[in-house]
Amino acid sequence: MRLASVVLDIPTQALDAPYTYIVPESDAAYAPVTLFDEVDAAPGTDGEELAVEVGCAVVVPLGSRKVVGFVLDVRDLDEGNAPDGVDPARLRPIDAVASKPYFNEEGAACARWIADRYIAPLSACVRLFTPPGAVPKMTRSPYGAWQLVAPETQEADDRWIVPGPAFDDFQPRKNAAKQDAVVSALKSGGEAKVVELTAQVGAVSGAIAALEKKGVVTIEHRRRMRSVGDAAASAAPVRPSASAPKLTDDQARAVELVVQASRRGKGEAVLVDGVTGSGKTEVYLRAIEDVLAHGRTACVLVPEISLTPQTVGRFRRRFGDKVAVIHSRMSPGERYDQWDFIKSGLARVVVGARSALFTPLENVGLYVIDEEHEGSYKQDSAPRYHARDVALWMAARNGAAVVLGSATPSIETLHACAKDPRFHRALLPRRANGRPMPDVQVVDMAKEFGSGSRSMFSLALKRALEEELSAGRKAVLMLNQRGFAKFLLCRECGFVPECPSCSTSLTYHERGAELACHHCGRREPAPGRCPECGSPYLKKFGAGTQRVESELRGLLDEMEGVGPDVPIIRMDADTTSRKGAHQQLLETFAAADAAVLLGTQMIAKGLDFDDVTLVGVINADTTLHIPDYRASERTFSLVEQVAGRAGRAELPGRVLVQTYEGDSVPIRAAAAYDRAAFLKDELPKRKLLRYPPYAAMANVLVWGKNESEVAAEAEAVQKAVQTSVRDFGGDGWSVLPAVPCVLAKLRNTYRWHVVVRAPAGEDLSRALLPFMRRRRAHPSVSVAVDVDPFDVL
Ligand code: ADP
Ligand code: ZN
Ligand code: ZN
Repeated sequence: MRLASVVLDIPTQALDAPYTYIVPESDAAYAPVTLFDEVDAAPGTDGEELAVEVGCAVVVPLGSRKVVGFVLDVRDLDEGNAPDGVDPARLRPIDAVASKPYFNEEGAACARWIADRYIAPLSACVRLFTPPGAVPKMTRSPYGAWQLVAPETQEADDRWIVPGPAFDDFQPRKNAAKQDAVVSALKSGGEAKVVELTAQVGAVSGAIAALEKKGVVTIEHRRRMRSVGDAAASAAPVRPSASAPKLTDDQARAVELVVQASRRGKGEAVLVDGVTGSGKTEVYLRAIEDVLAHGRTACVLVPEISLTPQTVGRFRRRFGDKVAVIHSRMSPGERYDQWDFIKSGLARVVVGARSALFTPLENVGLYVIDEEHEGSYKQDSAPRYHARDVALWMAARNGAAVVLGSATPSIETLHACAKDPRFHRALLPRRANGRPMPDVQVVDMAKEFGSGSRSMFSLALKRALEEELSAGRKAVLMLNQRGFAKFLLCRECGFVPECPSCSTSLTYHERGAELACHHCGRREPAPGRCPECGSPYLKKFGAGTQRVESELRGLLDEMEGVGPDVPIIRMDADTTSRKGAHQQLLETFAAADAAVLLGTQMIAKGLDFDDVTLVGVINADTTLHIPDYRASERTFSLVEQVAGRAGRAELPGRVLVQTYEGDSVPIRAAAAYDRAAFLKDELPKRKLLRYPPYAAMANVLVWGKNESEVAAEAEAVQKAVQTSVRDFGGDGWSVLPAVPCVLAKLRNTYRWHVVVRAPAGEDLSRALLPFMRRRRAHPSVSVAVDVDPFDVL
């Protein structure tokens, strides 16, 4: 007898283990389940018999219900090797197979690993591997019969016509002009797509039906690949261009390191630590060429926002139509087609957002993670995995290597390079085109305020804008905005109240005019005057892009040689919500002469415009005061990244960073391109306060609609976690009190959290997995564990 482990496709909060079912010996053993509504076979199978294999969707009984599940493994039941606690006599058989395999044994192993490592429901982890919208579901018909509903997303077909057996016998007739037109189209083209014929000669279905009956034409259904929404991805094959630049010595060394690591195939990582414009992408491209030449494939992850046609175009120009693209702005149909293209084995390079890791790309020799410091590699809903760590796991399993690229590597990765022999580092300290890095000037806004200015724009920034724009050049202005946590700031001395025990800034709460620490729960009344200098000008910080835009418009209109003709292109969450909007705004900016691109953090990444000569950061401090341990690191990266947008080509660039904290180390260090100075200040703090990379950390989130229920449950969770940590943890483990999150209320949901810490390298799931397994689900309060949280907001 053969047994299968099946994960039920039921999204639940509890951690679900796979169920065991019997694999029927023959088709006759399959119980009658109506397969689908209209089709009587699983889509894409052409009615062929499907076997129970790892990765298939199957229909199984669960009590009196029928549910869809995914097969994780299939094995023989020999004498006495039934899984723990399973009585073979009580097992029930699988009812039907509902799809071809979505993943293989490796995928199944990865899903299990993610579920354990990130304490996530196994069903959600398995779902990472299935094409979105393309999985069948069970429903119950009005008569009580269980029925499999075909997935919403399926293959798309085009109708084509080709000459039939009687094509040459066709005799034109009067009153049948359409038939005539169809036949002559076939005579000239050999075949024709029905939609195109219709566009040329009007409705033709009647004519085609008549011709088909006579055997003059034959109708064929051919698979149509939905375009991925950018011209570069059209079906037309792209000829790989040979015009790769000659590598700089630094690049050549980096490529060599990567190629060697990939050939060794031991799951090593190479950090390509290169300043903005140093040619990191060229390093990836060369390394991938080597991987492909060895018959293997490559998976390239880039942050969602930089997944523009420019980025994709660079890969397509080098690797032609072997490139598949996966990102979240594609329609389900487009994603399905790309997924299928990868599954077919024809795609050799996948470029995509973090989910591209889970596409069925086989024989991967290299994983590339560009901008590895980016927070978007961490998924913020279950399963809360980090793409970098999953890629490292996959590379170790498959005998591949991982490239991590960044101008501002995360502290975790830098730490790993120093401590972990599997991590290597390649430095690219210069721009590939030999241009110098732009000068960065820090502008002290407290001084400006002191001299009477009340504007968001410093005198220096106004002057620089006038000079550059009136000369027909471009500027990029970043409003460093998080839009939520308000903090107090003294406009005269730049003082921001901080928590003495957590080294994060206190957030301001309108209600009760209080300052609160969201780490340890400390609360105190907001001061009326600055505790440092006594000034009464304490500002509650947080300005929107729209307000900045209108002030900027007023400024530009007054400027000599600038005026109303110079456009301001605003790029923020509002203006980029439409599909393709982000791209359009960038194109408008590229096409303009003098122009200002004004935006939030999203403009810091990947922009490569030759004629940007000025970059301004309107308020560098905001990220500094996010009440989170990573605040300094984020500020340092952000300033460094956005500065990198200036002076990328012939014209020299300059950068102005406005701040109320001219002495802040992250800002000073970023302005001087001095990472060592930043780390020298930051690392001892992390160590002292036991933050990563000097500790392992998990954030237990508790949320629900009812404030008091959430608070009560959070207290209960805190106690249960403490018990679990006492039973399964060890020395140096600690559980902080339950406190409201910084984002205490999000979309009408109240949020609390409990932070758990352990010595670096310890596996937090050792104690947190038993806690989650033991926990009884609460009817209206949810709990989830975020292991290695990117932030604790
Ligand atoms: P990064 O990803 O490090 O910011 P890019 O790969 O985007 O850098 O390269 C920056 C610019 O330099 C691009 O326009 C690229 O075409 C160019 N470039 C890269 N490598 C070389 C090279 N070896 N010689 C000349 N130009 C190069
Ligand atoms: Zn002050
Ligand atoms: Zn505190």
